[in-house]
Amino acid sequence: MSGEFDAERLAAYAALRQHLHRRPELAYGEHETSALVAEKLRGWGFDVATGIGGTGVVASLVNGPGAGSIAIRADMDALPITEATGLPHASEVAGKMHACGHDGHTTILLAAAEELARTRDFSGTVRLIFQPAEEDGAGAQRMIDEGLFERFPVDAMYGLHNWPGVPAGAFRFIDGPAMAAVELIIIRVLGRGGHGAKPHLTVDPVVAAASIVMALQSVVSRNIDPSETAVVTVGAIHGGIAPNVIPDSVELQLTVRSFTPEIRDRIKARILAIAEAQAQSFGATTEIFAPPGYPALTNDPAHNAIARNTALRLFGPDRVAALPPLAVSEDFAYFLAHKPGAYLFVGNGASAELHSPAYDFNDAIIGDAARFWVGLVRDFLSGNAGPV
Ligand code: ZN
Repeated sequence: MSGEFDAERLAAYAALRQHLHRRPELAYGEHETSALVAEKLRGWGFDVATGIGGTGVVASLVNGPGAGSIAIRADMDALPITEATGLPHASEVAGKMHACGHDGHTTILLAAAEELARTRDFSGTVRLIFQPAEEDGAGAQRMIDEGLFERFPVDAMYGLHNWPGVPAGAFRFIDGPAMAAVELIIIRVLGRGGHGAKPHLTVDPVVAAASIVMALQSVVSRNIDPSETAVVTVGAIHGGIAPNVIPDSVELQLTVRSFTPEIRDRIKARILAIAEAQAQSFGATTEIFAPPGYPALTNDPAHNAIARNTALRLFGPDRVAALPPLAVSEDFAYFLAHKPGAYLFVGNGASAELHSPAYDFNDAIIGDAARFWVGLVRDFLSGNAGPV
């Protein structure tokens, strides 16, 4: 292929992205996608390792005498959503859809890979990490558990997400705590069921659960500094089968979002105390299941500044701005718990929201997002990345 991201190459990348979109694969099932990724990278001269974290791929390219190393990550998994876009390249797999644009992230990183291999205009080591199971299954943690950073050492790690509502091709950065930690908490309220006409002979878990839901509304408002951010959501209540039967138990399913370990721990402690005490006041008891969740994502300000300077240099100040911290979660947080780096956002334009059946990734942003990765590699490895 010819020069840097010309129309012919951009059309080829858009076609590749649409091909991935037609063939969505869920967490740890990204077999076709990872095979395609590995084949392309090998063809461009990368040293490619497969099977890291199930379907994960790591591609390395060493050039020049530089001792530095940088990793860039793309996610490959789709979601269990039935697509409703009606587009010509809509999902061909019932009940699966690239509704978060990971088809786009994968294509952007492949476009950058081809350009890095073609120009070899950097000195050091580039590692491209294509991870499975971002949406569900903590693919980042599994890659780390399987020796990612021992086998493929890097100085820093970067990732990006497309962002609906931000102008197409604009770049957004968040310094410090950027994306929330999320934990699941399941509270089972245990009572004693019976006839709906004889409540005095029962311990009604429905009433106790309702009281717990209302009391939980005070966890954030009465325990967390108003200048901090946290969310407690009861997203599901399951219990009972008939209007005239008091059930034995009711299950509440909660998510808790926070940005610091201190606030996370405080919220969890309050939830457990409220659930237990509320249930007890009705004569009921609780069983609580609280597995470890996704950690908060915290951008290292110095490494975030390197990326911001690359975006400023390539695209100018009109296309670069800050975002406030986001209450959504992202498993890139696991990587940043081990390596310094940053996670940033590129505008997807006025598209439907992420995880919506109407969403589609905007192919018009592939070229500039790939240019950004190539520019970041050069800036980072040159050690001349501007003021940090
Ligand atoms: Zn996503």
